[in-house]
Amino acid sequence: MTPKHDIQAFSDWLPAGEAPFIISGPCSAESEEQVMLTAHQLKQISQVKVYRAGIWKPRTRPNDFEGAGVKALTWLQRVKQETGLLLSVEVANPYHVEQALAHGIDMLWIGARTVVNPFSVQELADVLKGVDIPVLVKNPLTPDLKLWLGALERINKAGISKLAAIHRGFHYFEKSPYRNAPMWEIPIELKRLVPGLAVITDISHICGRRDLLQLIAQKALDLETNGLMIESHFDPDNALTDASQQITPASLHEMINNLIIRKKTGSIAFEYKLEELRTEIDKIDGEMLNLLARRMEVIEEIGTYKKENNITILQLKRWQHIIEDRLAIGTHLGLNKKFLLQLLELVHEASIQIQTQIFNRPNRNTENGSA
Ligand code: PEP
Ligand code: MN
Repeated sequence: MTPKHDIQAFSDWLPAGEAPFIISGPCSAESEEQVMLTAHQLKQISQVKVYRAGIWKPRTRPNDFEGAGVKALTWLQRVKQETGLLLSVEVANPYHVEQALAHGIDMLWIGARTVVNPFSVQELADVLKGVDIPVLVKNPLTPDLKLWLGALERINKAGISKLAAIHRGFHYFEKSPYRNAPMWEIPIELKRLVPGLAVITDISHICGRRDLLQLIAQKALDLETNGLMIESHFDPDNALTDASQQITPASLHEMINNLIIRKKTGSIAFEYKLEELRTEIDKIDGEMLNLLARRMEVIEEIGTYKKENNITILQLKRWQHIIEDRLAIGTHLGLNKKFLLQLLELVHEASIQIQTQIFNRPNRNTENGSA
């Protein structure tokens, strides 16, 4: 189903250097002074390779600061001249792309609010045809992997092969400490579906607050992110947008120094031992699946038997007993109670579904004639 993607290896089009690869800069370009001061401070951090700044800001209400617009692109040109940092801005329409290209911006990113709309993404793809520039595509606001994938594919189909994704978390209704729930399984699945696609983690928009950044940065690295996007400002408390999540370049430097950079592979002895353990896991998973299949077969028998004897599917007392009994055994074995409950509910749901299917089948003549 997934079309073939022509994506250039991340390492071929980004400046090499000490890990982690970092894109940093203010949420919004506010003034020439703010842009320059922040950039010069960031230049002191060797891992920061790309300077980011929002020029056109997608704001919820019209009277909020909507970005400095085209004039800020000339400030960014100064950043490049004076610091050598690569430049990156958010583009949401063809005009933004034209202006960014005309001002020598090195890298574009498409924001979460734009990615939700395939018409907008297609307009960007159309204007990018024949242009050789890296494009980073943020995840859409909602946890919709296909929409994210679709936006990446539209840009890729336009001929952009220097392509990466940015994971900035997802809008989520349940209470969470994050501004946008990370839902790590979604970027991981994206990487599985598009081998070779780099994913950069925008920890600022995931966290929404400074005190969570260090933890989430480490988590992103441990999950093999290809880089981090982090908002920084020389005076974050007085930032015009996203003040609570921005940090000073000095704090960013300290945060990077506190990160533990782990290796992806180990010594031969390590790999050998790991392989041995993985083989054991494969075997256990096989056994587990066989047992599950056997359990479902018995469920089918039970369902047929209940139907023949005109007995209801759900037997609350039995279900109550299963929960109590399995929780007692499982927790005794050291399994987590919440995990067990979720597992039991999932298995129970599947069992009810199987029995419902049996009950909905047209009756056949049974031996004892009951139906
Ligand atoms: C931003 O990077 O400043 C931004 C607006 O992000 P997002 O599109 O992820 O909300
Ligand atoms: Mn922001």
